Amino acid sequence: MSGRPKIRLYVDHPLGKGQSVPVSRDHANYLFNVMRLGVGAEVALFNGKDGEWRAEVAQAGKRGGVLVCGAQSGAQVNPPDLWLLFAPIKKARTDFIVEKAAEMGASRILPVQTDFTNSDRIRQDRLQAHAIEAAEQCGGTFVPDVAALRPLAQVLEEWDAERALVFADEALAHSEAGSTLRADAPAPAAILIGPEGGFSDAERSRLRGLPFVVPIPLGPRILRADTAAVAALTLWQMAQGDWG
Ligand code: SAH
Repeated sequence: MSGRPKIRLYVDHPLGKGQSVPVSRDHANYLFNVMRLGVGAEVALFNGKDGEWRAEVAQAGKRGGVLVCGAQSGAQVNPPDLWLLFAPIKKARTDFIVEKAAEMGASRILPVQTDFTNSDRIRQDRLQAHAIEAAEQCGGTFVPDVAALRPLAQVLEEWDAERALVFADEALAHSEAGSTLRADAPAPAAILIGPEGGFSDAERSRLRGLPFVVPIPLGPRILRADTAAVAALTLWQMAQGDWG
């Protein structure tokens, strides 16, 4: 068969030439009911570590099936060592942040609870599923891990000082400071984006006092948290990441 398979799926299973991959119930519904694929049809598979493989439907059932890997169709490509820390906001915007971070090439996504965070819980499994879906549709072979929600203070206590924390500080929006990410983005790094209420004064002074923290402005306007996340990821990727 020629051409790229239209369907790309993430599977939590080893991939390699001749490898059989069992089809989960959800995937069986999608592949064989919704998309109406039959035996012999081709899909592309990736598992986050073995690259992308073409696989043929060997068995198709209502609740399961089997795919068999043929040739490798893409090498494993891991993103640069860039994490995104963000304070969860409203559901749809939180989903957006996770989806965009996966597309933009964040290697880990860490929801953090800040002083003005409005939600005290997240659906980690649902957010992880969003990251998987984003990788499936953007052609990525890597899926960023979405961590459990933790208090920012605790994350800072355990921080590895080798990793710069690029702190998107809305208080710098009105200052003369230019973006330090333009020419000189630190790596490895993590970007920190606050909630709709921004950071508290206490958080801001604690963050500014930490040696690994690099406060940055994101222009003269106050961006919504989801916009700020994409903007900061873009800046870092441009200066230091895999866009060059
Ligand atoms: N309510 C706050 C703004 C919060 S915006 C206020 O009015 O000040 C949400 C988050 O996006 C901020 O915490 C910050 O991390 C980021 N952000 C938005 N605009 C920014 C800017 N111009 N510079 C730096 N960070 C910004």
